[in-house]
Amino acid sequence: MIFIKNPVQIQKMRDAGKVLYEVLQRIVSQVKPGITTKELDIFAENLIRKANAIPSFLGYMGFPASICTSINQQVVHGIPSHDVVLNEGDIISIDCGVILDGWQSDSAITVGVGKISAEAEKLIKVTEECFFAGVRQAVLGKRLGDLGEAIQNHAEKNGFYVIKNYTGHGIGKDMHEEPSVYNYRTNRRGIRFMKNMTLAVEPMIAIGTSETKVLNDEWTVETTDGSLCSHYEHTILINDGLPELLSYPGFTWKEDA
Ligand code: MG
Ligand code: MG
Repeated sequence: MIFIKNPVQIQKMRDAGKVLYEVLQRIVSQVKPGITTKELDIFAENLIRKANAIPSFLGYMGFPASICTSINQQVVHGIPSHDVVLNEGDIISIDCGVILDGWQSDSAITVGVGKISAEAEKLIKVTEECFFAGVRQAVLGKRLGDLGEAIQNHAEKNGFYVIKNYTGHGIGKDMHEEPSVYNYRTNRRGIRFMKNMTLAVEPMIAIGTSETKVLNDEWTVETTDGSLCSHYEHTILINDGLPELLSYPGFTWKEDA
């Protein structure tokens, strides 16, 4: 069942999104060669709790941390560790979720560690463009399938692949609500976007494959060919016009893009 939010609930999700945006920005500012992913996780948890929010990932299905840190060929769900040190040239996806006053926000960003290759830079840029190409379709009168198609088209136009085993999702009181938000074309057009529906849209784009495997830790997802993968996510609100990005306060759409 899809839960349409009322204005009070939307404001709570907007407040949660603002906390999450600030937390993610500050985690990103800590990313540098030599830092461990566990240090980033501890930093994140402290910031979240200081904002009177709850780290939604911690304990979710047994996940042991407040952020997912997925490096290079890792797609999602990387576990922060004292043993994982960031190196110059790595790319890292930081995925984080918070609950504020009972309402969720979920967002992820991929950044480079120090200087990265031109190919890695392009992958990160194209993944963000895929997100925005998809979200531009999330308007009344269109369907979920239009969003997935736009993401896949933009990835393929740039010679990249959409990861298919993982999707975006509805979000609200729960982190994962209906519907699933596919990042690719399917043979169904999907449901129509509805006003005040809230979704987490999160394309995962890889250089060489759509296929993934899960490591022995039962969490970390990697590309099967070991190629780099990038991930970008925001929690969005379906509006009369283009969506509001609840986890990106202050963002405005450019008319011409
Ligand atoms: Mg996420
Ligand atoms: Mg998500």
